[in-house]
Amino acid sequence: MNIHEYQAKAVLKEYGVPVPRGLPAFSVEDAVRAASELGGPVWVVKAQIHAGGRGKGGGVKVVKSLDDVRKEAERMLGMTLVTHQTGPKGRLVNRLYVEEGAAIARELYLSLLVDRSTSRVSVVASTEGGMDIEEVAAHTPEKIVSFSIDPATGVFPHHGRSLVKTLALTGPAAKQAFGLLKALYKAFVEKDMDMLEINPLIVTADGDLRVLDAKVSFDSNALYRHDDIKALRDIAEEDEKEIEASNYDLSYIALDGEIGCMVNGAGLAMATMDIIKLYGSEPANFLDVGGGASKEKVTAAFKIITSDPNVKGILVNIFGGIMRCDIIAEGVIAAVKEVGLKVPLVVRLEGTNVEQGKAIIRDSGLNVIAANDLSDAAEKVVKAVKGTA
Ligand code: GDP
Ligand code: MN
Repeated sequence: MNIHEYQAKAVLKEYGVPVPRGLPAFSVEDAVRAASELGGPVWVVKAQIHAGGRGKGGGVKVVKSLDDVRKEAERMLGMTLVTHQTGPKGRLVNRLYVEEGAAIARELYLSLLVDRSTSRVSVVASTEGGMDIEEVAAHTPEKIVSFSIDPATGVFPHHGRSLVKTLALTGPAAKQAFGLLKALYKAFVEKDMDMLEINPLIVTADGDLRVLDAKVSFDSNALYRHDDIKALRDIAEEDEKEIEASNYDLSYIALDGEIGCMVNGAGLAMATMDIIKLYGSEPANFLDVGGGASKEKVTAAFKIITSDPNVKGILVNIFGGIMRCDIIAEGVIAAVKEVGLKVPLVVRLEGTNVEQGKAIIRDSGLNVIAANDLSDAAEKVVKAVKGTA
């Protein structure tokens, strides 16, 4: 789960991380009030969306008067902000963050993330922070340094020294680095984050470290033990289909392809996506209806898939173990009757009650293409979509 920058900064502040003073704003009046409360003389008005690259897209402005705070708030609220991370459709700006302005001497990069290959927390740092970090990664990757922290032992002073060296810190900033790393690491572990990215981490004109931007995502599987974090969810930022899926406890991720998939079991879902690619197309989603899905759940899943305008064909691939094939068949029929079927539908059923399931589909009179196994199913749906069936 992702949260907004202002929420991330509030979480980090609880751990003693140095962040600028700031207030969120949901209206132009809010923003002006926030700015006068903060006092000035310099403010930064920042659009709050779950995507980076806002600075280059006009979503971050440094201003020097309350009039300009108002002007920028008026411009940003309600705008569709397009950045390299939002895709061409952009994101609607509903919230702003007004901060006291900082005098920047240096812009650095620092992030923490879970490294599954080493089972450790990776620290990634660079002297080349700021808005061009993607360029740095692409053209001068040697300027990005990483080291890892073993969760069994935590942060040691040598990690702090590595950070000082990597970021070429001196003076007060060098003294603050170890404390900052410890605080960030503690927040990361205690709150079950899977990514914490600070870009930029700045050295101020006075020589101090300060967190100027923060992007945080949390491990969704751990949210049950963080009610405070769960409360920060902003569903306006999420894919509507993913929200609907979470209401039915379906594991659904929207993707960019053209073939909608309804599968039970994450492993089978992954295999189905792979084989769709193998036959020359792209999956429109990942969808695991789970082990014991009800007819209602299957119907909901089917509706979510058909509501995606990118879907040019649907592949239902079910291995009935706990899940019964007749339930799936009934769910599919019910959903098709409710929402109609405008694209080819290929169904592959195997396992418990497979004959009943196949009979239900056959007797429904619907135009369903039956498949015998996984590769047959993938081949058929891709052919149907590409018009060469
Ligand atoms: P992003 O583009 O979405 O990553 O948004 P950031 O919060 O990183 O802001 C983009 C850029 O705006 C930063 O890299 C800074 O150069 C600049 N910026 C942000 N806050 C301040 C500030 O308080 N003072 C000054 N001078 N520049 C700022
Ligand atoms: Mn940034």
